[in-house]
Amino acid sequence: MSAQLFGNYIDGAWTEGPAFDNVNPANTGEVVGRFVKGAPEDVTRAASAAQAALPGWASMNAPARGALLAKVADILDRKFEAISAEMTREEGKTFPEAKGEVRRSINILRYFAAEGARLAGVLAPSERDRVHMFAIRKPVGVCGLITPWNFPSAIPAWKLAPALICGNTVVLKPASAAPLSSWRIVEACHEAGIPKGVVNYVAGSGGALGEALVTAAPVKAVSFTGSCGVGAWLHEQASKRRLRIQLEMGGKNPTIVLADADFQAAVENTVNGAFFSTGQKCTATSRAIVEESIYDRFVEAVVERTKKLKVGDGMQAGIDIGPCVDEGQMNTVLEYVEIGRKEAGEPLCGGRRLTEGGLDKGWFVEPTVFAGVTQEMRIAREEIFGPVLAIMKARDFRHAMELANSSEFGLSASLQTTNLSRMFEYVYGIEAGLVTVNLPSAGVEYQLPFGGTKDSSFGPKEQGPAAVEFYSDFKTVYVKY
Ligand code: NAP
Repeated sequence: MSAQLFGNYIDGAWTEGPAFDNVNPANTGEVVGRFVKGAPEDVTRAASAAQAALPGWASMNAPARGALLAKVADILDRKFEAISAEMTREEGKTFPEAKGEVRRSINILRYFAAEGARLAGVLAPSERDRVHMFAIRKPVGVCGLITPWNFPSAIPAWKLAPALICGNTVVLKPASAAPLSSWRIVEACHEAGIPKGVVNYVAGSGGALGEALVTAAPVKAVSFTGSCGVGAWLHEQASKRRLRIQLEMGGKNPTIVLADADFQAAVENTVNGAFFSTGQKCTATSRAIVEESIYDRFVEAVVERTKKLKVGDGMQAGIDIGPCVDEGQMNTVLEYVEIGRKEAGEPLCGGRRLTEGGLDKGWFVEPTVFAGVTQEMRIAREEIFGPVLAIMKARDFRHAMELANSSEFGLSASLQTTNLSRMFEYVYGIEAGLVTVNLPSAGVEYQLPFGGTKDSSFGPKEQGPAAVEFYSDFKTVYVKY
C-alpha cells in the first residue's frame, strides 16, 4: 500500500504536487507519509492569503476565536492515540513520550482558547481631569512560524495558538523530518471551521521556504525554533525589514549534582535529562557537573543505570529510547562520540551504533557516557543533540557554577541539592532561561514563560502569558469626557 499524500494548506485548500517522503527513523523501510514539497511561490501565496484573512479574523471577538481553538483541541483529543502513534513513527520518540507531547499540545490550545476571554490591556489613571486612558491589544499581523522536528506537535502548537488568539494569521513551515504532527493540527483547524487563509501550512526545504517567508511582504513577525546558524541568518534577514522576531535555539544544558543531594534521585534525574527522547530535547542534560566528594560513586551509578536503558522502536512496550531522527543526526552523534574518544578516552558505556536484532533498519545509537570531561573539550562545549552525556568534576559548588556558566548557551539548567541556601544562590546566579531544582533539566509546562538566554535565544519568551506579548501590540487611547 502506498503512503498517504499530505498536501500543503493554503487559503483554506489542500494543494497537490511533487512530494517528499516522511520516513520512520526506527524502520527506514516505512514511509509514514508523502508530503507535497512546497515552493517559494507557495509561501508567497500563503502569506497573501493570510494577509487577506487578517481583517476578518482580527475583528472577530477574541472569545469567539477562543471557541474555535477549543474546537481544534477537542478534535485532536478525539484522535489522541492515532496522532501520538504517528508522532512516534515520524520522529522516533517513544509512544508514552509522544502521548505526553500530544496531550501538551491539546492543553496549550485549551489554555490559549481561554486566553480569548482575558487578553488584558492596560488601564491607568490620567493626570488630567476628565481624561480616561487605556491601552488595548491588537494583533501584529501575518506571522511566519518555523518549527523543528524534535517537538513536532508541541512547538507548532505553542506558536500557533497564541498567534491566533491574539488575532494574527499565520504561515507555518514545519521541519521536513517530521511534518505530519503539525499537519494534524492544521487539519483540525480546517475541521473546526477556522476561516480560510487564517492558518496556512507549507512543508518543504527550509532554506528556500525560509527565505520566501522572511521576505514575504505581508509577514510582520517571525517565530523560529531550531539551530543557531539558521536563527542567526533569519535574524539578519528579519532585521533588514524590521520584523518582530523571536528565536529559540541550541543549548548545552548542565545538571549540577552536589554532595548533599538525594543521590538516587540525582542519578535518575540526570539519566532522564540526558537520554530520554534520545537526548534530542533542546533542554536535555548534556553536561553533569558533579562535586568531587561523590564524583566516583555518581559516575558508577549513572553508568549502571544507563546500561539498563532499553533502546528500540518506540512503539514497542518497555522501550526507553528511540532512534535518532535521521541518518544525518545519527552521524553527527557518532562523530561527536569519536571526538569524545580522542578528548576524554573510551566512553564508560555506549559509543556505538546499534544494529543487532533488527535495529539496523533504523538510526539507533547506544546511550553514551563520557567521564573525566574538562571544560576545553568540544564535547563539553558544543551541542550534540543526541544520547551523549559528558560528566565533569567540580571542586565545590562555586566551581560547579563557574563550569555551568562557562558556556555560550543558556537554555536550561538543573541543580540537585537539599541545601536551600545553595538552591537560591543557583537560582539567582545560573545563566539559563529555564532553571530546575531536583528535577531533570528538561520538562516544560505551558503555563509559564519559556526560553533561554545568551546564545540560546533572542527576543521575547514563548508560552504562558509571555506569548501574548510577542503576538500582540498595544494601541493606546486617551479620551476626554
Ligand atoms: P534547523 O535545522 O535549524 O531547522 C529548524 C527549522 O528551520 C526547520 O523547519 C527547517 O526546515 C528550517 N530551516 C532550515 N534552514 C532554514 C533557513 N535557511 N531559513 C529558514 N528556515 C530554515 O534545526 P533542527 O535540526 O530542526 O532542530 C534542532 C535544533 O533546534 C537544535 O539546535 C535544538 O537545540 C533546537 N531547538 C531549540 C529549542 C528551544 O526552545 N530553544 C527547541 C527545540 C529545538 P527543514 O527541516 O526543511 O530543514
